[in-house]
Amino acid sequence: MVIVYGSKNSIKIKKNLGVNVCPNCGMNTEKVLAAEKQQFTVFYIPIFSHTLRKGLICPNCGMYKTLTNAEFKEMANN
Ligand SMILES: [Zn+2]
Repeated sequence: MVIVYGSKNSIKIKKNLGVNVCPNCGMNTEKVLAAEKQQFTVFYIPIFSHTLRKGLICPNCGMYKTLTNAEFKEMANN
């Protein structure tokens, strides 16, 4: 029997932080607070997942600013 397994990454958007100037590309873009998760699958069924990183994403240039758990919580609650 062949066991098909793999992993896939997904990004969960937690909160939209509104329009900000991105320090990387200098564009006025909507920053989002997001967590990147890695899911392990067996026969394409997700078995478990763990958070790879949490941070701010610029949808324009794709810049990812990693935040600590404390920073992430603070921004999510503001
Ligand atoms: Zn940017």
